[in-house]
Amino acid sequence: MTATIPFIDLGAQRRRLGKLVDDAIMRVVDHGGYIMGPEIATLEADLAAFCGAKHVLSCANGTDALALVLMAKGVRPGDAILCPSFTFAATAEVVAWLGATPVFVDVREDTFNMDVDSLAAALATAREKGLKPVGVIPVDLFGQPADYDAIEPFCAREGLWMLCDAAQSFGAHYKGRKVGAIGEFSTTSFFPAKPLGCYGDGGAVFTESDEMIEIMRSLRVHGQGADKYDNVRIGMNGRLDTMQAAVLIEKLKIFPDEIAARECVAQRYEAGLADVATTPKLMEGATSVWAQYTIRAPGFDRSAFQEALKADGIPTAVYYPRPLHRQQAYGHYPAAGNGLPVTEMLAGEVVSLPMHPYLDEATQDRVIASARKALGS
Ligand SMILES: *Cc1c(COP(=O)(O)O)cnc(C)c1O
Repeated sequence: MTATIPFIDLGAQRRRLGKLVDDAIMRVVDHGGYIMGPEIATLEADLAAFCGAKHVLSCANGTDALALVLMAKGVRPGDAILCPSFTFAATAEVVAWLGATPVFVDVREDTFNMDVDSLAAALATAREKGLKPVGVIPVDLFGQPADYDAIEPFCAREGLWMLCDAAQSFGAHYKGRKVGAIGEFSTTSFFPAKPLGCYGDGGAVFTESDEMIEIMRSLRVHGQGADKYDNVRIGMNGRLDTMQAAVLIEKLKIFPDEIAARECVAQRYEAGLADVATTPKLMEGATSVWAQYTIRAPGFDRSAFQEALKADGIPTAVYYPRPLHRQQAYGHYPAAGNGLPVTEMLAGEVVSLPMHPYLDEATQDRVIASARKALGS
C-alpha cells in the first residue's frame, strides 16, 4: 500500500512560511482590530500594486465579491446576465439572488472558457425570451484568463458590462494585462484551495471605476452613508476579517514564486502526458496560475481512470461533473439557443490531477507514471 499524496498541499506551504503567518495572526490578536483593522487597507493596497488595478475592495468571499458588483450595477428582475454553465455555482447564483436571469453560454473545447460565438447566440436567446441583457460574466476557469480579445469588444459593441470571475486566475496574465486589471470589474476568491488562499473565507473586487468603488464600499457595510447609522442603500455584511488580511499579506509576498513553481509543474505534466491525453492549452499571450491541471482522455472510462490512480495513492477530482444548466436549481434558466454541446462533452471527460507549488519531481513522476499506466501506455 503506497501512501496517498495530497491533491493540494497546504501543509508544505505552511512549513515554508514558518512563523511569518503565525506572527501576523498574533499581531491582530494583540491589537484587537478584528473588524476592518489596519491590515485591511494594507492588503487592498498590496493587491492593487500586485495586479495594477485602480481600486481594490476586500470582502468576505468570492461569492460576495460577485454580488457586490451586481448590486452596484443595480441588477434587477428582468435583466439577463450571460455566463458559462461550465463553472462553479457561485457565478450564476449571485445573478439569481437579485432576481435576474442567468443565460448560459457554451465554452471552447481548447481552453474550457467562454466561447464568443455561443455568447452571441445566448444574447439572441435572452432577447427572444423578452429579457433585457445587461452584462456578461466570463470565468477564467482553472486559472487561465478567458478570451478577452473577443469578449471585451463584443460587450462594448452590445452595450453590456463585463465582470471577470477571476476566482481561479488571480496572478495570471493576458496579453500584457494582469488579472484584476482586465475590464471594468473583476472579482477573486481567497478560499484556501484557490491559488492565493487565506485561512478561511475571503475575496476581493477590482475595479477601474471611481464611482463604483465608493458604492461597493458602502454596500460592503449595510449600505452605509455618511456614518455607521446612516443607511443610503440596501447592502450586506461583506467585510473580510482582519486576520485573513494578515494571512494574505504574508502569502502575497511568496505568491510570484509559487506561480513560477506551478508553471514548472504544469510544464512537466505537459511533457509527461501530452502524448497519451488531451492536456490543457494556453491561448497566445495568456498565462495560467493552474488552479487546476485538467486533462481529458476521450474514449476512456473516467471512473476507471480515477480508481486506478486512487489505488496508487493519487487523488483526482472532477471539476465539474454536472454543468449548471443540468442542475436542479439552475435547469430552468435559458441556455444559448443552439445548446451547450462542448460543456456537455467536457463535463463527461475532464479530470484534474494533483496541482500545487510544492509538488516535487519524484511525486509528480509517480502521478505521471500512474496516469500513463491507467491510460494503457
Ligand atoms: C471559488 C469560486 C467562486 C466563489 O468563491 P468563494 O470564495 O468560495 O465564495 C466563484 N467563482 C468561481 C469560478 C470559483 O471557482
